[in-house]
Amino acid sequence: MPGRHHLFVPGPSNVPDRVLRAMHRAQEDHRSSAFPELTHGLLRDIKPVFGTQEGRPFLFAATGTGMWEAAIVNTLSPGDRVLAVRLGQFSHLFIDTAEKLGLKVEVIDLEWGDALDPAVIGERLAADANHALKAVLVVHNETATGVTNDIEGLREAMDAARHPALLLVDGVSSIGSLAFRQDAWKVDVAITGSQKGFMMPAGLGMVSLSPRALERIETAGFARHYFDLRPQVLHNDQGYFPYTPALAHLFGLREALDMMAEEGLDNVHARHARLGEGVRRAVAAWELRLCARDPESRSNTVTAIVVPDGKDARQVIDHAFRRWDMALGSGLGRLNGKVFRIGHLGDCNAGMLLAAIGLAEVAMHDAGIPVPLGSGVAAAQRWYRESA
Ligand SMILES: *Cc1c(COP(=O)(O)O)cnc(C)c1O
Repeated sequence: MPGRHHLFVPGPSNVPDRVLRAMHRAQEDHRSSAFPELTHGLLRDIKPVFGTQEGRPFLFAATGTGMWEAAIVNTLSPGDRVLAVRLGQFSHLFIDTAEKLGLKVEVIDLEWGDALDPAVIGERLAADANHALKAVLVVHNETATGVTNDIEGLREAMDAARHPALLLVDGVSSIGSLAFRQDAWKVDVAITGSQKGFMMPAGLGMVSLSPRALERIETAGFARHYFDLRPQVLHNDQGYFPYTPALAHLFGLREALDMMAEEGLDNVHARHARLGEGVRRAVAAWELRLCARDPESRSNTVTAIVVPDGKDARQVIDHAFRRWDMALGSGLGRLNGKVFRIGHLGDCNAGMLLAAIGLAEVAMHDAGIPVPLGSGVAAAQRWYRESA
């Protein structure tokens, strides 16, 4: 089809032309005497995006899934007990990773669409007088349900319980788009990847370790090789990587970090809040339900929309793709067929979302869900004008 494809899956997100151009260049020697300038600059300038000054970031040729593994094998030991909350497909897969690696995971299962309750975790930790639980594993923004969890509240609950468990947080669909405050929330390992808020293709995995987590890399009991942070520390200190880094991605990251700094991180976060609200107003005008139940927890990077009973969200997604050249996010795991998702993260603006909302309306018609045409668009238009 002529014209631009409309990419509204919540990752991979749209890559700005500036980032594409920055990545489209000749390879160079990653062991040259000039290379440390790039490495040191990236590792310095990514820190504000994690909300950290004390933390130590690392970059891998990997995706978020690899960073789950990196976070675990560098800070914990086989057989360790950890506490995790399952409230959607990504928290489920994080737990799955932990179990496959050999952790004993105590799972708090929630309805998919609910947010974690810090008090429940606080009570569980307070009851763990012997500190058998070594870590808490949570997802900040559950991309499958469009729920953002309250990590600040979780940290308060953990502190109130006076429990020393490490806090491992998946911020793959939040960091770079939503406010993330690693230092203030005392997040021990913050996990992310390049293809969502960072506006890049998939291929870079990123983690940031608190000073406390960094000490653990020496004593963690897991065998590890590719994701071992110890050689990374040694090489990164000199401005290098222990093995060939994903050069094009590093050039892309340089550009993406520059773009975020030019806009200002607070403005990036405010833009996401405004864009997300417009999508939610469209859904309200359609009189459809959001998967995220608590209004406080509704995500500013992704909205999961529940289709009416008897309708199939897969049809909405397929009509959108085949007839209207738009990619929507599917219902993952047990939400398959029940929801479709609109991603509104990364390189995104109001005009793009008005197109997405308008095309979602026609695709819903194609799938037998006759929301009044233009109703969601009009609601979003009003909000975007008001909030401009
Ligand atoms: C996308 C995503 C991941 C990681 O997925 P990859 O495909 O490995 O990049 C992990 N957690 C969340 C919350 C995500 O949205």
